[in-house]
Amino acid sequence: MHFLSAALEEYIADHSEEEPELLRELTRETHLKVLMPRMITGHYQGRVLSLISRIIRPRNILEIGTYTGYSALCLAEGLLPDGKLHTIDKNEELRELQRRYFDLSPYGDQIIQHTGLALETIPRMGETFDLVFIDADKQEYPDYFEIVLPKVRSGGLILLDNVLWSGKVLEPIAPKDRTTQILVDFNKKLTKDPRVRTVLLPIRDGLTICSVE
Ligand code: SAH
Ligand code: CA
Repeated sequence: MHFLSAALEEYIADHSEEEPELLRELTRETHLKVLMPRMITGHYQGRVLSLISRIIRPRNILEIGTYTGYSALCLAEGLLPDGKLHTIDKNEELRELQRRYFDLSPYGDQIIQHTGLALETIPRMGETFDLVFIDADKQEYPDYFEIVLPKVRSGGLILLDNVLWSGKVLEPIAPKDRTTQILVDFNKKLTKDPRVRTVLLPIRDGLTICSVE
C-alpha cells in the first residue's frame, strides 16, 4: 500500500542515503528463497532505522522479529563499538541465512540470534536496552510492549513497525480481524500512556516511536 504517490516515494528514496550493497543482496536473496518477502524492511525505512540508531548510539539493542536480518543490520549500524544487538525470531529455518549476512557485515560479532517465541525469550534476558524494535506478531504488540518496557532505560526508545497495517486502522474492522482491532486499541492506548512519549511516523506501513520517560 502506498500512502504517498509512487513517484513521491521514489523521489524520497532517491534523496536519502543509498542502500548498502550487502542489504541489496540480502533483499535479492530473500525474494528468491524465503516465503513472504513483503515483510522485509526496504531501502528507505532501513535508512531511517539506521539513522535513529546512529543518533542514539545504543550499547544494547533488542529486536523482536528478525526475519532475514535486514532491519537488524540497519539498527546495528549505530551500535557503540562494544555494543550488542539481540534479535529474536521463532523461525529456526531463517537462522543460517541471517548468520551468513551478519558475518558478511562489520557487525557479525555484535549480533546475537535467539530462536524462540518472543514472549518466552524476553523474560529470560537479563539485559537492559537503549533501543527496541518491535516487528513480530502484531497481535502480541501490547504484550511485547509491557514486557520490554521495564527493560528499557530512561530516555531509551521503543520502535513499533506496521502500526498503520496497510491503512486498515481507518477502515471498518471485519468481525474476525482481531489483528486490526488490537492495533487500533493499542495505538490509541499508547498516546495516553504516561510512561512514554509517542509519535507515529508515516514511514512505510507506519512506524511508532516511543521515548521512555
Ligand atoms: N524485522 C524484519 C521483518 C520481521 S517479519 C525486517 O524488517 O526485515 C516478522 C518476523 O517475526 C517473522 O520472521 C516471524 O517468524 C517472526 N515472528 C512472528 N511471531 C513471532 C513470535 N511470537 N516470536 C518470535 N518471532 C515471531
Ligand atoms: Ca515490519
